[in-house]
Amino acid sequence: MRLTRNSWILIASFAVLVIILITTAVLRDTEEYVSKVEIALGTTVRVVIASDKNPALIIESVLREFRRIEEKFSVNLADSEISRINGNNGQPYEMDEEMAFVIERALTIAKATNGAFDPALGNLINLWGFDKIGDVDFKGRVPSDDAILAAVASSGYENVEVNGVYITLNNGVKLDLGGIVKGYAIDRGIAIAQEMDPKATGYIDAGRDIGIIGPKFSSDSWSIGVQHPRSDNPGEYLDVVYLEKGSIVTSGDYERFFIIDGVRYHHIINPKTGYPVVKTVSATVISSTAMDADALSTAAFVLGGEFASVILPSLGGQGLFVNDEMEQFTTEGWSFFTEKR
Ligand code: FAD
Ligand code: MG
Repeated sequence: MRLTRNSWILIASFAVLVIILITTAVLRDTEEYVSKVEIALGTTVRVVIASDKNPALIIESVLREFRRIEEKFSVNLADSEISRINGNNGQPYEMDEEMAFVIERALTIAKATNGAFDPALGNLINLWGFDKIGDVDFKGRVPSDDAILAAVASSGYENVEVNGVYITLNNGVKLDLGGIVKGYAIDRGIAIAQEMDPKATGYIDAGRDIGIIGPKFSSDSWSIGVQHPRSDNPGEYLDVVYLEKGSIVTSGDYERFFIIDGVRYHHIINPKTGYPVVKTVSATVISSTAMDADALSTAAFVLGGEFASVILPSLGGQGLFVNDEMEQFTTEGWSFFTEKR
């Protein structure tokens, strides 16, 4: 059989296509990821990057940003800016642009969640000691009901007054941005990596709160497991999601807690009662920024899965929530992320 000219062209085109596909696959496999782990913000921060530029330098710059943010936002450092705001005796304090940006977002989410997420619980968190639970000599204890009631009375975002760049804390309230600043740090880390190399890919994982720098091998999604909240096996997942961008954050009762007389006391406080939230054990939220995912996961934990699964999408989050009976609730859009694209 004689092949026509068109057939030869077709066969040649096919051969070229196969060569291109094989070459791409080989190149993709050789795209190397560099990673580094460091303790910052009281948790383990892992930065994973592939870049043609200088991945080690990019990682160093991201981790330096985490250290800078910790120095500014840590309530445990007496001369941090947040401590200066808290110690300003109810007088107006002039914030810089960054502080104003984070506080404004925190207050917006506080209002939108009817105070489930509340950045002004500093007195309660300090009373329970959850700001120091990472210390080696930390010993959990349950405060008296009176002390809790007093701390509830001097807590709450309604007492935070912002006038332009000035912030005033009324009624003795103190800020604690522990439920949002880890997310903000991840967003800043991503921005720095992308500024240094717009083609960089990888992710930042700060204590299982994850923000994507860019898709795996420039085109694939990263697969991320949602930890089973009551399994001792860190590889046992409730679900796996696939992300090429954005962020996924989990708030759980299983990492920062103490148990007294069989009762688990953990670090997410119900602002209304002043006690750790009961009935939720895990709340995972996907959002376009890690800052929003962080605040919304804390809010969802307080609100409970049944309610959170209905209202989260209107606040820009999709999520998976688990209650104390291990019942799972998901938002309508969650399944989009559980299918590999
Ligand atoms: P999330 O659900 O995201 O947040 C829970 C945290 O938010 C609580 O720890 C509390 O701070 C706050 N919170 C509790 N209830 C509410 C609520 N209803 N609304 C809003 N916020 C709430 N840990 C240490 O052990 N030692 C440290 O020195 C230390 N330094 C830190 C410095 C900074 C700047 C930051 C951001 C965190 C630091 N941490 C430290 C970790 C911190 O205490 C929390 O563990 C962490 O931020 C909580 O993240 P999460 O994802 O576990 O839980
Ligand atoms: Mg949070």
